[in-house]
Amino acid sequence: MAIVIPSAVRAISPDLSPDRTADRSSVPGGTGPAPVPPGPWPTLGNSTWPNEGGTVDDPPNILLILLDTLRADAAWESLGRSDRTLTARRCIASAPWTLPSCTAMLNATSSAHLGNYWRNPPSPRNPLLDALPRRYRKIGVVNNSALSKGSGAELGFDRWTFIGDHDAPFERALRVIDKAGRRRPCFLLLHSNIAHDHGFAVSSRYLPPGAPRGLGERIITWRDTTPEDRTDAVTRYQACVAALVEKVRAVLDAVRQRDDFVTAVTADHGEGFDYELGRLHHGGRVHQDLLQVPLLFDLPSTIATVRRQALGDALESQTVSTTDILPTLFGLAGLDDLPDVDGSPIDRVGARTLVSEDKRYLYLRDRFRINYRGKHGRMTAEELQRNADLLSLLDGGPTLRSFIRGSDKLIVTSFRVASTTDGGVDRSALLGLGRQLLGTPSLHIVEDQLFAFERFDLDADPLEQRNLLAETPEWTRELLGGPWRTEASMPGPGGTPMDLASIFATGETIPDVEV
Ligand SMILES: [Zn+2]
Repeated sequence: MAIVIPSAVRAISPDLSPDRTADRSSVPGGTGPAPVPPGPWPTLGNSTWPNEGGTVDDPPNILLILLDTLRADAAWESLGRSDRTLTARRCIASAPWTLPSCTAMLNATSSAHLGNYWRNPPSPRNPLLDALPRRYRKIGVVNNSALSKGSGAELGFDRWTFIGDHDAPFERALRVIDKAGRRRPCFLLLHSNIAHDHGFAVSSRYLPPGAPRGLGERIITWRDTTPEDRTDAVTRYQACVAALVEKVRAVLDAVRQRDDFVTAVTADHGEGFDYELGRLHHGGRVHQDLLQVPLLFDLPSTIATVRRQALGDALESQTVSTTDILPTLFGLAGLDDLPDVDGSPIDRVGARTLVSEDKRYLYLRDRFRINYRGKHGRMTAEELQRNADLLSLLDGGPTLRSFIRGSDKLIVTSFRVASTTDGGVDRSALLGLGRQLLGTPSLHIVEDQLFAFERFDLDADPLEQRNLLAETPEWTRELLGGPWRTEASMPGPGGTPMDLASIFATGETIPDVEV
């Protein structure tokens, strides 16, 4: 299918291949490659903490800057500073929207395990944050109401503040950083929604007077948009990102001045701007424009050369997860005795499969997004009715998972249909909804459950436009002959995990022609 991408969209369209670091100067607003620090670095044991007169045994402060809806290829790289920062080549978010992704990151636990899609944390505690020594003050300042108290994101923090205003979280964070001390170090989470809010009136302040209005309530489906509206959406997003980067730079300046913070800058997910492919907004799909996020570490001069080098090597050679970020920061702060979580200090990770998941939303081919048990915000009466009609066909909600191992990516979408009045399976409903899925997935049915598969080579096909499984009628055999036989699994009846061998052992593979 020919794709016509407006130039302004192309400017931030996914260029997520591993060699993207080779030429970042093509990214508007970017400043060229973010180099791995050349060294030499100060070594551990030869310095004291500035402003404190302590020794390196004093734990550093910890800062996580979490930028909502910031794509990996947005113009954020000028935040890097070659003598202090290390940048990930490919970092994968655990979920494609705010609540599950942020809570997964803060628990260092995959969304597929944590499952917080409806403000339903599985535990009243956050064991990872509980493992921080008592003398750490744990402070969260968030800018998206999805993360307000009761969401589960606040668990484990001593103070948790939701602020709707865009400027105030940064001002609050700067005050916390200014007060941080050796005897009472802090772990500070600073979250900003500036890029997230690109479609709404609040973002007008980042644009010149008279700039076109944003997508507003149309942001989920881009319904009734003109080509100009779509170009304007990108322009507004880029303006928000530029404003956001300057805010973050001021915070980084503050911690760099002190030189006693270990800091990470990342995002919870990206944002879709590809109208033709139906890859819009976020949630409800697991493409790389949503899952691949920026990740930058800013390290104080007291981190040992060998550790810095190991982290830099791993960030360059491994695909890392947002669930690795806190274990890495805590490890850099000298906290090695962490509870058993999915994430690992990045300098210790090897080849592995990273799983990302959504269970609340599902985008369809015509850009409609199913909303399962959500608040149904920004939906028209007509969309609410369609949502209800679609959900009435289903038994429960959908499960979308992506499995990434190196450049090999498998996406599996699954749902079950409700029984017919005589207790049978409505095959036409199952296949009918399967036909409405985004892309060209290969389908397999097991009784009342549909499984839709897409496999991409992220190095060769970073835009994920070529489902490799669609190129062979033997696609199930191909999957069973490779790593996905054991590495991929989906919830089956009753939520029981089913690996590919058990999925394909029964049921029916649907020929492409039938779809
Ligand atoms: Zn978000």
